[in-house]
Amino acid sequence: RILEGDIGSDGEKAWENELRPQRFEDFPGQENVKEKIKVFVAAAKHRGEPLDHVLLSGPPGLGKTTLAKIIANDMGAEMKMTSAPAIDKKGDLAAVLTSLKPHSVLFIDEIHRLSRHVEEYLYTAMEDYYIDIVTGDGLGARSMKFQLAPFTLVGATTRAGLLNPPFRDRFGIVERLQFYEKGALQKILMRSAEILKVEMNEEGAAEVARRSRGTPRVANRLLKRVRDYAQVKGNGIIDKDIAIYALNQLGVDQFGLDLMDRRILSLILEKYNGGPVGIDTIAAALSEERDTLEDVYEPFLIQEGFIQKTQRGRVITEYAKNSVLPSVQFDK
Ligand code: ADP
Repeated sequence: RILEGDIGSDGEKAWENELRPQRFEDFPGQENVKEKIKVFVAAAKHRGEPLDHVLLSGPPGLGKTTLAKIIANDMGAEMKMTSAPAIDKKGDLAAVLTSLKPHSVLFIDEIHRLSRHVEEYLYTAMEDYYIDIVTGDGLGARSMKFQLAPFTLVGATTRAGLLNPPFRDRFGIVERLQFYEKGALQKILMRSAEILKVEMNEEGAAEVARRSRGTPRVANRLLKRVRDYAQVKGNGIIDKDIAIYALNQLGVDQFGLDLMDRRILSLILEKYNGGPVGIDTIAAALSEERDTLEDVYEPFLIQEGFIQKTQRGRVITEYAKNSVLPSVQFDK
């Protein structure tokens, strides 16, 4: 599937890494966030200190991991990557923390999913760069302070609101990534095409950009598939016509809606008369996980003005009902 947040196979991971920019100069978009972070990094380097801890939020595929890596590169330090589900014991966390070198970046993905005791264990590490390590057990147990190298924690989460306030407050830099403008996506696509050694013109890139839900990961995935169509059904070059043809074949319509978006919209529209309908009901009806709906699909549908969140559930907006949905082709 084109949209899923998590990266499946190792092949896919390798491919994502190949396209991952390593420097701010190769990272179009998020201008606001980028400018601020550049200043903070420069200042930290000037003082010879690690960068303050950073919390990045936003839907999957917008560049949180990439930004963390760029920060580490810019600090001239290494980055260790892990995700909350991989550290369910204090010991797991202690092992990672004690392996960090000065000014390293520790990237924790899905940080809102840390268990409470692991999260609290991080507090002293974040504030004063030490952890308490307990050796032995029973009456012979001893706790000792273990000094850590000064490091930077970069946490990524789909929704910052899911973090406990005392945890969130320990991040000095809190930034939310936004969906990308078409122009930035176009730049990202042109760069990816160059790396993948596929020829693409500006109109071709614009068409893919327009239908990428404002998300670089989706743009790159579509690019790979459109390239296949260009090779097999065209002359190998991605232009506007082959892009439109391929995207239609892939089920991405002119509004950038994919199959699941259209299933969500048609469910609310037809079965629930435009809403309101609760997110759990939608999830059950479509056999999709609630988290995936809330993290991946809904933010885009809300941003594009298709649906609204209300106290009583999700509703289709008047705008969508009147001006867009009549020309959407719902799959029967
Ligand atoms: P997240 O961690 O937010 O889920 P990633 O950082 O893994 O997203 O980015 C997903 C993919 O999109 C990667 O292959 C990355 O190279 C690409 N990408 C994300 N943001 C940008 C950007 N601003 N410029 C270029 N490529 C980007």
